[in-house]
Amino acid sequence: MRFELKYNLDKIGKPIDPTEWGMTPQTVNAYYDPSRNEIVFPAGILQPPFFNMNADDAINYGAIGLVIGHEMTHGFDNTGRQFDKDGNLRDWWTKEDSKSFEEHTQMLVDQYNKYEVLDSLFINGKMTLGENIADLGGATVAYYAYKLSLEGKETPKPIDGFTNYQRFFLGYGQIWRTNMRDEALRRRVKTNEHSPEKERVNGVVYNMPEFYAAFPDIKPGDKLYREEKERPVIW
Ligand SMILES: [Zn+2]
Repeated sequence: MRFELKYNLDKIGKPIDPTEWGMTPQTVNAYYDPSRNEIVFPAGILQPPFFNMNADDAINYGAIGLVIGHEMTHGFDNTGRQFDKDGNLRDWWTKEDSKSFEEHTQMLVDQYNKYEVLDSLFINGKMTLGENIADLGGATVAYYAYKLSLEGKETPKPIDGFTNYQRFFLGYGQIWRTNMRDEALRRRVKTNEHSPEKERVNGVVYNMPEFYAAFPDIKPGDKLYREEKERPVIW
């Protein structure tokens, strides 16, 4: 801690080093930095299950593609949108756009507030809003990037009975497989700005018309089904 503190304090008064990363290469994570308008993907995350050279494109777009879209969307979430393209804290939005953004994101806040993770333990929709916006926007961006990549090509064949768009969503589900004790989960829900993994997946896909199109067996009345008017459209 002493080393890190001194290391950081020593930067005061010196010019910004644009080559410095906020994570080590071996970290399995990624980030968006609003003050630099920069997205960073350390080498550590560029391996399965996030990126797999041997997997088909649908899986990779649903996995690392979604993570890339997620970081991009952070530039336009409730925090990132307050910074301009040069990384300065400056409101560059019109009043109407801001108002509309707030209304749509409020839907997302209300949705996540209703997720009961453990007995009487609910997700904090406000605290996790930026991440939830990034997840929903990222999934949508990645889906359409994948669709674009198929232009002029033959539709890929099903694998193990799953269509290519189903595999896109499977790729997303696979990156957030996890196992946690209740105590750790409770702590996480109280302190981490990310929603728990299960809700990071379900909370996103059931807002996407593309998901219902990929899995047409999901019908109104199913447990997690959402009416169209209940699905926020943000990015
Ligand atoms: Zn994030």
